Amino acid sequence: MSAILSKLPQTGTTIFTVMSALAQQVGAINLSQGFPDFNTSPELIKLVNAAMKKGHNQYAPMAGVAQLREQIAAKTEKLYGAAYDPDTEITITAGGTQAIFTAITAVVNPNDEVIIFEPAFDCYAPAIKLMGGVVKSLELEPPDYRIPWNMVKRLINNRTRMIILNTPHNPTATILRKEDIDELSAIVKNQDILILSDEVYEHLIFDGETHQSMARYAHLREKSFVVASFGKPFHATGWKVGYCMAPAYLMNEFRKVHQFLVFSVNAPIQYAIAEYLKNESTYLSLPAFFQEKRDHFRTGLEQTRFKLLPCSGSYFQSVTYNDITDEKDSDFSLRLTKDFGVAVIPTSAFYNRGTDHHVLRFCFAKRQETLDKAVERLLRV
Ligand code: GLN
Repeated sequence: MSAILSKLPQTGTTIFTVMSALAQQVGAINLSQGFPDFNTSPELIKLVNAAMKKGHNQYAPMAGVAQLREQIAAKTEKLYGAAYDPDTEITITAGGTQAIFTAITAVVNPNDEVIIFEPAFDCYAPAIKLMGGVVKSLELEPPDYRIPWNMVKRLINNRTRMIILNTPHNPTATILRKEDIDELSAIVKNQDILILSDEVYEHLIFDGETHQSMARYAHLREKSFVVASFGKPFHATGWKVGYCMAPAYLMNEFRKVHQFLVFSVNAPIQYAIAEYLKNESTYLSLPAFFQEKRDHFRTGLEQTRFKLLPCSGSYFQSVTYNDITDEKDSDFSLRLTKDFGVAVIPTSAFYNRGTDHHVLRFCFAKRQETLDKAVERLLRV
């Protein structure tokens, strides 16, 4: 056998796959990988079924089904006041991760620097590295995980190609606020820097806060790939359908890659979602729906020895555990899963250097009885 030179020598299997497999193996309640344990809406399933029966079972257009792109454009205009052209500025992808990979592949060249904020979702850095780019990470700290913009400024140089943002943020459940947008705007002004904005949790935002989409701001929109997903809002992470919006000059490059990576995405589901989106309550109801789960879970956790961190968006709740143990978060996660029957994600997995602030992430996109059962077990810790 000839030796191969790994392109990602430091990369193992993602923490989500590892923890979900362990949860299954030991029969733990799985609050690790982010996905709901309740079903997507029967109406949406009916629409998928109808699309299949109608014969929408062949290749969708490369950029996505036109009706779906039109619905996305209308929704984006209504929510964020941004007019994306569905023909040239929106592409349907096989989930958020594919959109992120495609955007990075389309514009990051060897030695280009890309700024990411850690803890970071695990797919950003490998994609940058595969393109020969250089990851410039800034570590954020609990409890607030605010972006230190003065330090971002210091990282900028003429090789800086892109800044990757994620709001609401996975895993920390923080959100960007208007003051962050102002700082970001000042930093990228007159600079040849693109933005990749991972907004897959856009509709999971609480306490009446505003989702600060890059789409809202013309001067940022013109530099940005905005990535969104239908898996999170419609409780269907297994369908792997999402999308990317970007100005035509960027989308043109994005599609050159997209067409050879997946060519086009699952057709019947696109037709179904296009119909489903016509009813705006399908997504406008989500903040209240998930906020109730958040509040219920937080109330339960308050009875335990875990300490809650703030949660402004996403379906993740982080906790610290300094009153319980000084174990590493990775060790404690394994022990919680095996000995107490609740699987979680150690936040150190989101830091390139494995920085461990003793923070664990729970997913609360679960039925109330699942959350209650998990809290019951966590009370014994
Ligand atoms: N976004 C999900 C999470 O953070 C998992 C996605 C994945 O498994 N790649 O848990």
